[in-house]
Amino acid sequence: AEVRKRSVQPGVDAAKTESKQYLEDQYRNNQGELICQVCRKPMPFKLSSGAFYFEAVEIVADATKRYREACLALCPNHAAAYRHANAQREDMQDLIEAAIGSEVEIELGGVATTIYFTETHLVDVRACLHAEHHD
Ligand SMILES: [Zn+2]
Repeated sequence: AEVRKRSVQPGVDAAKTESKQYLEDQYRNNQGELICQVCRKPMPFKLSSGAFYFEAVEIVADATKRYREACLALCPNHAAAYRHANAQREDMQDLIEAAIGSEVEIELGGVATTIYFTETHLVDVRACLHAEHHD
């Protein structure tokens, strides 16, 4: 798989849009529904545009560069839990680099769970975190 380490500079909104497009391609179930990477259920509602509502949450807080791949596709509940009740957010780089298979074990809101990654996304995220770390 080709790894693109393209950082997205012009503004948070543009970066978020690129991340969302990327994630929408990665996390579809067999019915074509967009799923959350934690609960793996379809996103709970759609926007008036017909698109699923979801949140693209940056994996590592306060990254100096924004990569469209370095986000998670999360439902509103898990987006909030990841942002506000994630004891391991500072350790995400290590957890992701050490992950075996397609799941990263994590605790959200005191509950042990896993974050599911597509093979492509996991490869891309590792490349981004590595680039971030060595700049
Ligand atoms: Zn969820």
